[in-house]
Amino acid sequence: MPFSHHSHSGEFCGHAANTLAEVVEHAVQRRKMSTFALTEHCPRGDDDLYPEEAAQHNAASLAALFDAFIVEAVRLQQQVHAASSAPGAAQCEILIGFEAEWIRPAASTAIAQKLLAQHGGTIDFFIGSVHHVGTVPIDFDRALYERARRMCGGSDAALFAAYFDAQLEMLEALRPRVVGHFDLIRLFADAPDEDLRAAAGGALWPKVLRNLSAARGMGALLELNTSALRKGLAQPYPRLEICRAWMAIGGQFVLSDDSHGIAQDVADTSRPKAARFNLQLPQLESRLSLAVPPPKAAVWDAQNCKTPVDRDKADDE
Ligand SMILES: [Zn+2]
Ligand SMILES: [Zn+2]
Repeated sequence: MPFSHHSHSGEFCGHAANTLAEVVEHAVQRRKMSTFALTEHCPRGDDDLYPEEAAQHNAASLAALFDAFIVEAVRLQQQVHAASSAPGAAQCEILIGFEAEWIRPAASTAIAQKLLAQHGGTIDFFIGSVHHVGTVPIDFDRALYERARRMCGGSDAALFAAYFDAQLEMLEALRPRVVGHFDLIRLFADAPDEDLRAAAGGALWPKVLRNLSAARGMGALLELNTSALRKGLAQPYPRLEICRAWMAIGGQFVLSDDSHGIAQDVADTSRPKAARFNLQLPQLESRLSLAVPPPKAAVWDAQNCKTPVDRDKADDE
């Protein structure tokens, strides 16, 4: 049964398509998802609007849009779960979450904490993602990627290093249940399909291993995110060598199509060919612990989710 732990809709995201109801209907009725997570982007501050948002949004309107997302997500979740009790009806666990940002450490942490405080009873988990380096988006378009690269000195190696350092900061501050598109920084790089063990003369690989170890230490799951394939990369996020390193330390995955509308279902895991996403990982199936999760198996426990600070204290005890 296919499943995805990461999705967006045009109703609540300026660079996506379709209403959330259409996205859910497509996932449940057409794709026969067994688990589908609604994980809209979290709100951002006035200085961090995407180009398509600048004309019509500010921090307050993005925050209101997110609140509206939660209301609609709950309505659809209840609708799907109620309908599933009918004989022969599609069975799909709808999870509600969000994709946290890491743009400015204090502000990004405050936004995630606010959402969890406000919607903690509703939110099942959140994805910790890094889409910015030095506050500049690195996956939005090539021009912005190149701007971020210039700010880091002009080389992909330096930008990658800064990205993985930002990711470690994000992991330690937010302690996400799911780590989003671990090596997203590859998207606009000069050699996007380069083996990260060899990239930059081997200088990046220790940072990759360091971040995997941090994620594993906090019990996070890595998403196997197929949006990379949709965008023309040879392998999903993360690449094969990272998947192997993650499995070597006992890590587990969730699967994500990161769809921004119903046209983007490259990740359809009902197609056998797509099952391993171009990865030569025969053991992968055994690591997909959430393939058919029992209800709420993907839930980050409330203590972890709501207050990362409390979680840190618990670790010390
Ligand atoms: Zn998006
Ligand atoms: Zn993302």
